Amino acid sequence: MPLLHKFFLYFLPLLIAQATPLKTNPFNPFPSDIGCENLQYPYEILAPVPYLKECLSTINGLVVFPGDPNYYNSIKVANCRNSYFPVVVIYVTTISDIQKSIHCANTLNITPTARSGGHSFEEYGNGGKNGVMVIDVQEFNQININFETKTAVIGTGNRLGEIYHKLNKVGYLISAGECINVGLGGHATGGGFGWTGRKYGLTSDNIVSAEMVTANGTFISPINLTHHSDLFFAIRGAGNAGYGIITSLTLKIYPVQPIVTTIKISYLPEQVELAFIIFAKVAKNLNENLSGNMNLQSKSNNTYTFSFNAIYLGIEEEARSAVKELIELSKPAYIKFEETTWLRIVDSQPSFVRQPFKITSYTIPPSGFSQEAIRVLVNFIDNLECESIALFDLYASDVISRISINSSAFIHRNIFGVMELEQQLKDYSKDDQIKCVKKHLQFRQEFQAKYTSYFSYQDYIDRDLSDWLTRYYGPHVPRLIEIKKKYDPNNLFNSKQSIPTKLP
Ligand SMILES: Cc1cc2nc3c(=O)[nH]c(=O)nc-3n(C[C@H](O)[C@H](O)[C@H](O)COP(=O)(O)OP(=O)(O)OC[C@H]3O[C@@H](n4cnc5c(N)ncnc54)[C@H](O)[C@@H]3O)c2cc1C
Repeated sequence: MPLLHKFFLYFLPLLIAQATPLKTNPFNPFPSDIGCENLQYPYEILAPVPYLKECLSTINGLVVFPGDPNYYNSIKVANCRNSYFPVVVIYVTTISDIQKSIHCANTLNITPTARSGGHSFEEYGNGGKNGVMVIDVQEFNQININFETKTAVIGTGNRLGEIYHKLNKVGYLISAGECINVGLGGHATGGGFGWTGRKYGLTSDNIVSAEMVTANGTFISPINLTHHSDLFFAIRGAGNAGYGIITSLTLKIYPVQPIVTTIKISYLPEQVELAFIIFAKVAKNLNENLSGNMNLQSKSNNTYTFSFNAIYLGIEEEARSAVKELIELSKPAYIKFEETTWLRIVDSQPSFVRQPFKITSYTIPPSGFSQEAIRVLVNFIDNLECESIALFDLYASDVISRISINSSAFIHRNIFGVMELEQQLKDYSKDDQIKCVKKHLQFRQEFQAKYTSYFSYQDYIDRDLSDWLTRYYGPHVPRLIEIKKKYDPNNLFNSKQSIPTKLP
């Protein structure tokens, strides 16, 4: 191949992809709040750690302590229902910064925690408890594309929107979630389902290699099927559960279709039961170019209480034929198709506004829900004081189910989908929030016991979930514990829901 041709094919797109970082403010990815209380550092219970400043004095990146003007901005994460106060936030810029930070954490007995996009449902980006050392990887934001292998080495500090934008410039995408602000580090390592999930699988299914700094400060690269294959197994599904600080992931990339079609199909309250049953019936046979989710809302302020929002990777005519059977059988009250481009879909996603919320998750067996289950769920959503909504990520596809559950720590394979029951709490007083969450958790326990599978999705993490190790990781728990013992024997990276070094 002539050299110039090579330049245009391989190197020019790479240069374009690395130019113009989108980041404007390194401290506060959540510029606005709704319903969040002012943050107040609990000086009375959390004293500064002696020698911490000195220990971190040679860090190249920015180091923010309580009392610094940037401190409160540096701890703003997506959910403000609870707030946790780290003793330091370190914006690491190099592997050596991470190694020095971990050395200080070991020496001064502080729990370090990785933070990428700060979108953990339970604020685990800030440790999920007071007094941790946050190692923020947002400066690990490289995206290097290899067109020959159709992969990209992506820094875990990138947010999904940045990745979609940069890859789209050279005609590619990754298979990942729909919220553009979510960080790659937490998302890809716990699953990652979105607009192309039924066609290309979860983000964790697309990891071919990774790099990580472990609890003793060792930088391990590569982590893949042949090198550190045990860790490679663990980080694809449990990588955000305390194995170390993952600095980059090499992901498979896929060509962007020139035209994609958005589909919205909606139902009136009296159609919900039938619609659910039809979805379960046809889901597995839906063309895999189609990915999306359903949402069920309260009838109090919605004409259509149940909607399917999907994307078809192709033109409208094909999209129509993909959902023909679904439409004929379920007779929706509203149908809309619109041809657009991948980038327009990415750009139409709103930035997430920091707010208080509580979410629980449930995996649904291939048969879907019984009529009784649907009635119980509709009744709960219609009658709870706090606004609640159920979202269903439609997994049913051969691409997801034919991957062996033994190939990685991600076990949710042969299912209809994942339901997230979401309570948005921004309009309620703290007391009402507590009451609503209590009812939600009580409902969850009964609903999961009776109507769904036993399992839950770890990227929709829920600190109140009982038997969470099994519900997230199923039969892999003993293996994950063994791997944890090998790479973090002293349980340095620990949180309420990190993989432990022994069975609880
Ligand atoms: C508004 C919103 C929309 C969402 N949409 C989707 C969706 O469409 N599909 C989907 O599947 N999920 C979705 N999620 C869930 C999301 O995937 C998880 O919350 C994910 O863990 C967030 O990752 P993060 O890096 O942004 O969060 P963080 O809070 O930074 O991290 C989450 C967890 O991952 C760990 N972690 C972060 N970075 C690293 C790293 N570099 N190395 C090791 N561990 C790390 C943290 O310690 C923490 O435990 C959404 C969440 C929100 C809030």
